[in-house]
Amino acid sequence: MTLEEALSKYTPVIGLEVHAQLNTKSKAYSADPNEFGAIPNTNVSPISLGHPGTLPRLNKQVIDYAIKLGLACKCEITREMHFDRKNYFYADLPKGYQITQDKTPVCRGGRVLIKDIEGKEKGIELTRIHMEEDSGKSMHDQDPFDTLIDLNRAGVPLLEIVTEPVIKNSTEAYNYLTEVRKLLRYLDVCDGNMEEGSMRCDVNISIMPKGSTEFGRRCEVKNLNSIRNVQRAIDSEIVRHAEILEAGGEIDVETRNFDATTGTTTGLRSKEAAHDYRYFPEPDLGGITITQAYIDQVESVLPALPNDLYKKYINELGLSDYDATNIVDSKSIALYFEDIIAHTKNFKSAANWLMGSVKSYLNQNAIELVDFPISAENIALLINLIDGGKINNNIASQKVFPAMLENPDKTPELIASENNWIVQDDSDELESIIKGIFESNPSETERFKNGEKKLTGFFIGLVMRETKGTADPKTTTQLLNKIIETV
Ligand code: ADP
Ligand code: MG
Repeated sequence: MTLEEALSKYTPVIGLEVHAQLNTKSKAYSADPNEFGAIPNTNVSPISLGHPGTLPRLNKQVIDYAIKLGLACKCEITREMHFDRKNYFYADLPKGYQITQDKTPVCRGGRVLIKDIEGKEKGIELTRIHMEEDSGKSMHDQDPFDTLIDLNRAGVPLLEIVTEPVIKNSTEAYNYLTEVRKLLRYLDVCDGNMEEGSMRCDVNISIMPKGSTEFGRRCEVKNLNSIRNVQRAIDSEIVRHAEILEAGGEIDVETRNFDATTGTTTGLRSKEAAHDYRYFPEPDLGGITITQAYIDQVESVLPALPNDLYKKYINELGLSDYDATNIVDSKSIALYFEDIIAHTKNFKSAANWLMGSVKSYLNQNAIELVDFPISAENIALLINLIDGGKINNNIASQKVFPAMLENPDKTPELIASENNWIVQDDSDELESIIKGIFESNPSETERFKNGEKKLTGFFIGLVMRETKGTADPKTTTQLLNKIIETV
């Protein structure tokens, strides 16, 4: 069955659970360093190893980050909360339990704004955001006989972000994850790298006959290491579920594994055999009270968020959807843009320069904006020079911009005047140049005089050559047409 056929008969229902690894300096309940890529089992201590008699201590930064994200998603912040123990046995969980939040998640409700499949704004409602710790990492593919365990990750703080079952298709899921990743990066709480596992996503999916309101039986898909794979997994599950239902079968409620090479899922374990985690309040960490003053303080230092910037660019600056989307896509680009428009009012031109010359330079040299030599202010000054008629667009992009890359400390105006690139609006001089050109090109001049307008380009070319490109093309054209009448 094709996806189209499946979608013509069934409505998918999707809920996503995202785990975001927080970029704090130390772990959630100990002073162990929280860093990716260290030598295995070096970032550990008696606390993260769960030795008897040790006590966890909460890293306050984790709460800060959780509330930041909660405020950005307009969640309700829980004022009285505690942690819970989720008990299970696994080799990469030395304590035998995970410290998480069950009954009192730090955030409830809220939403993430996305574009739906038609490009319309849609709010994806969140059920909850809660704080928890990561487990260690079991590596099954490093040694031919044994599973190796790295406990550096044990105790690294996570935020789990759970949506309501309101996502309707794989495109919405894709857009949702892109937005969440953007938010995490703008808030600077997580680097959002799915390939490295610092942002992970589980997909819950069911389908129901079109027109029905009763949800079908769901499966949970794990092991998705890119946003694109989440999309592929959803599309493959929709077809699989539809085929089973069409054949008169029933969906097994189970956890499934996504295989990126085949683009399909396989059963891992049935939900019937689900653990009873025996949650109970973590006795080693007390209750936490969040005051309004604390929330206000976190809110007062929230950075500009992608959605607000997008709306500002569309509604206040008059940029196109395309420009606005591209600029807010990356936090560093957006901040640079903000910096340019602090020095020029030509917003459209600022967007063009940034997404054009600047972005191409970054791409060609495979560098990030932090390593870009030209300051935002100098880009703005360049735009203002053009708008003020001091240099023309061609000279700006072909000559001044490359020279600015070489001399980032000089203003574009200085560079342009040092090189005689300032536009010559001195009509007298231009007139005599044009007269000279007409004299030395008698046959073309004759044809031009007889109405062969296509020769305009030929003469402009000669004028540009003689003025080293600094003549204003519009003035030149006007003068050509005026002077030709007199020769
Ligand atoms: P669990 O504890 O098994 O993970 P939750 O109730 O926390 O279950 O739900 C996890 C996710 O599953 C949520 O994102 C929720 O929106 C989603 N979900 C719940 N019911 C369905 C359903 N019938 N189809 C698809 N997704 C669902
Ligand atoms: Mg789950």
